[in-house]
Amino acid sequence: MVCFCFLVDQTREVRRSKLAAGVCSRCGGGASVADMKTSTRFCLVPLYWKSWSAVMCTYCGAILKSYH
Ligand SMILES: [Zn+2]
Repeated sequence: MVCFCFLVDQTREVRRSKLAAGVCSRCGGGASVADMKTSTRFCLVPLYWKSWSAVMCTYCGAILKSYH
């Protein structure tokens, strides 16, 4: 029997955010500009991570716009 370990997960972390103009199209909550960090792990070993910015809703967390 062959046992395969295949587990990829991705974690998203908001490093800092500040209020921005605009409202969420989903819930009408306030928007903020956030610096995000996404890391991808394979079998719990970090493979790579990237930093990006996004405009997100402070209420429901929806990504309204992203800048890569
Ligand atoms: Zn929202």
